[in-house]
Amino acid sequence: MKQILAEIITIGDEILYGQTLDTNSHWISEALDRRGIKVLRKTTIGDQESEILTAFAEAESRVDLVLITGGLGPTNDDLTKPCLVKFFNTDLVLNEKALSDVAEFFARRGRELTQLNRNQALLPRNCVMIPNRHGTAPGMWFERDNTVFVSMPGVPHEMKHIMEESILPKISAHFKVPALIHKMVKTTGIGESFLADIIKEWEDALPKNIKLAYLPSPGEVKLRLTGLGNDKKALEEGIEREIASLQKLASEYIYGYNGDTLEKVIGELMRNQSKTMAVAESCTGGYLAHMITSVPGSSDYFLGGMVPYSNRMKTELLGIPEELIEEKGAVSEEVVKWMAESVRKKFSADIGLASSGIAGPGGGSAEKPVGTVWIACSCASHTQTKKLQLSLDRNINIKLSSISLLNLLRKQLIQ
Ligand code: ATP
Ligand code: MG
Repeated sequence: MKQILAEIITIGDEILYGQTLDTNSHWISEALDRRGIKVLRKTTIGDQESEILTAFAEAESRVDLVLITGGLGPTNDDLTKPCLVKFFNTDLVLNEKALSDVAEFFARRGRELTQLNRNQALLPRNCVMIPNRHGTAPGMWFERDNTVFVSMPGVPHEMKHIMEESILPKISAHFKVPALIHKMVKTTGIGESFLADIIKEWEDALPKNIKLAYLPSPGEVKLRLTGLGNDKKALEEGIEREIASLQKLASEYIYGYNGDTLEKVIGELMRNQSKTMAVAESCTGGYLAHMITSVPGSSDYFLGGMVPYSNRMKTELLGIPEELIEEKGAVSEEVVKWMAESVRKKFSADIGLASSGIAGPGGGSAEKPVGTVWIACSCASHTQTKKLQLSLDRNINIKLSSISLLNLLRKQLIQ
């Protein structure tokens, strides 16, 4: 089946000036993507006739479907309609339905219908009028040769209503749309290039209709599998098969799928195993507790935590001997291990987590440069520690340390 190609053109000087963020094309892209239509290009242009006409002509030469928003208002600076008339070499005629709609729109608000508003019912002769119950400018549907043009108002909620009520159903009826499926595989604990190495052969052997994308962000790499085909069920099965083979190669790093987050996955594991936890955070300063408690229902397994930031508080709250801190340093395997074990016991929890590191930008030394972090995960039978060498950026270090700790816990829980 041939893939349907689309282009989105958003019109308005205000977008180019940076006064308005183009949210329309973002919303439309997502709506089309969900229907298996490939958006080839997005263009933003100002309220300028030559630009508009050029954009229309170029889009017509490239794609099957052109979605246009903006510039349909009644004032002189709104040029989209006159441009459509020129582009299709047609003229404006009064559309009775559009006139009664706009008259009713003003009557409902107890306002007088001006000539400017009346003009909004003048539509290009070759279009199908698309009603707009939420504004005064109707949408318009054009067909020429093999390309469909749709023009909609720029006001985001009007555009969305018109899309959902009329345009999307019309698109589904007009085009034979293939099935498109995305599945996100979420990994942590491994960098993009190392992951790519591990799964190279699998990636190279993917069937032609399944594409892979790497989406890295601090602390994780998402793998997005996108399948395109005529048979939705076969496609779903194909993607599941590929994910099963991927699992064999990278199970250590895969923590979830689609909307899963590390903190959510850990929450489920903790709840299923009826375990409780407590945290002692030095360099993460509460960020770890924030991540854990951002999951609804975390009170089922999260007992609480402390932020013993200074050496004195590490001693007073957790009983870490002053001499140990002096000898090994607060950022050391020995101290972080003690922190995790001590907070576990103090809170009578099954698991204790702890962090101690140099978040930066100051405080680094040759031996322990900025980004040196020790983390620990303690349970009754043993305590696991890990040294991280992170970045120079304080916020990223805090975030990465917290994610690494959650991953250490995850591995402990699935053992
Ligand atoms: P109307 O019939 O209401 O005059 P219009 O088609 O003339 O609609 P515009 O004048 O271009 O639309 O824009 C109306 C409003 O919608 C403005 O506030 C504008 O900032 C906003 N808008 C226009 N285009 C976009 C876009 N692509 N994304 C988000 N907002 C937009
Ligand atoms: Mg306008």
